[in-house]
Amino acid sequence: MAELDRYLVEQRERFEDELCELLRIASVSTDGQHAAEIRQAGEWVAAQLRGLGLATELIDTSGNPVVYAQSAPVAGAPVVLVYGHYDVQPPDPLGEWISPPFEPTRRNGNLYARGATDDKGQMLTHIKSAEAWIRTVGRLPVQLKFLIEGEEEVGSRGVTDLIGQEAERLACDVVVISDSCQFGPGQPAITYGLKGLAYFELRLTGPRQDLHSGTFGGAVTNPANGLTRMLASLINDVGRVQVPGFYDDVVPLSDRERQQFASLPFDESVFMQRLGVQGLAGEQGYTTLERRWARPTFDINGIWGGYQGAGSKTVLPARAGAKFSFRLVPDQDPDKIRRALREHLEPLCPPGIQMELIDMHGARGIVVPLDSPFMQAAATAIEQGFGRPPVFIREGGSIPIVNVFHELLGVDTLLLGWGQDDDNTHSPNEKFSLADFHRGIRTSAHLWHALGKIEVEQRA
Ligand SMILES: [Zn+2]
Repeated sequence: MAELDRYLVEQRERFEDELCELLRIASVSTDGQHAAEIRQAGEWVAAQLRGLGLATELIDTSGNPVVYAQSAPVAGAPVVLVYGHYDVQPPDPLGEWISPPFEPTRRNGNLYARGATDDKGQMLTHIKSAEAWIRTVGRLPVQLKFLIEGEEEVGSRGVTDLIGQEAERLACDVVVISDSCQFGPGQPAITYGLKGLAYFELRLTGPRQDLHSGTFGGAVTNPANGLTRMLASLINDVGRVQVPGFYDDVVPLSDRERQQFASLPFDESVFMQRLGVQGLAGEQGYTTLERRWARPTFDINGIWGGYQGAGSKTVLPARAGAKFSFRLVPDQDPDKIRRALREHLEPLCPPGIQMELIDMHGARGIVVPLDSPFMQAAATAIEQGFGRPPVFIREGGSIPIVNVFHELLGVDTLLLGWGQDDDNTHSPNEKFSLADFHRGIRTSAHLWHALGKIEVEQRA
């Protein structure tokens, strides 16, 4: 690896210049107004991969074009699919940028531009590491398949269809995504778990129209009263969800995970200060990080009914409703939760009220086993690239494409983020640390090496 590491040092400036080229293309996917720049960015990425001798295509989809490229198969070694995206969020509000969003500018060791970290800069680390292998060793130690899409910021429609249609061509042993953050400056992390989601809307309808609460109150059921009782029944005062069977399939936190989380430098008072709250609450028996990352939760996301204007209006509303969601963890099944929820709520719906429960969407939570050989390889590579072993963290949100890879290709994803949580993704003055850019490339180069040592069964 010495020659390869030397190559990475020699080429630093050119790598940065090439990233700047890509960042100058305003490939905003949000509003459909930048179709030309979207294609231009896709073509730029395709040209990079083609330049390395990879079989490369810019594939038209039901949405924006997807770049697909693959290197030669390597007998006995894993096939690794690298996913990333070349589209970006809109730069608004423009006035808040210190330097223009599509004129990449170096300041204090950072590169400022829309897309610098999300995801052009992070994505490019894997192309540059492949380049280093090909230019110094002459070949890659694993087969790489690059899948770089152009509408991640608006729901990944085209690429999701494509994965369904081309499952055979995209077959792989593991997926690598760099589109997330380190735990903090100088502390790299591997995100090994994501939560799932079960999202609902509950609509209650009572009398034909709003009624006088003096004349009819107490005799006619108030949908808002019914709604609050039904919602309150979903969770108790020590943070436990009360839907029967809700916890049946929850995989408990292992001792190793709990120790890992406890060893992280997480300051609850700083956390509270940042959020502007005086206290924290959640499921009894779990720490804040455990609740956020690894325990299922319930939240009302919106609630309405009755009079909301100034002053008082003595009304018994005809309708009330709420949107609410459960964040799920492995191995909870959103379909099972939906059935159990309906069975739980229906008997609680008071007489004179019609209830409608709408299933908005569901996704399963995901965890990559910490002892998976792919995870070990990633940890080794990060230690090489960043000079420090990663911490293992989970995330309370979902990344739908990770579920797509799991469901359609049957593989796990390594979430290896090179960003920082103050990189201003989706905000003015987005940046990417140039040191992290180069550490990411080096880590990626070492990752192909470490993954190449894992023996896998030959694909038929
Ligand atoms: Zn992204």
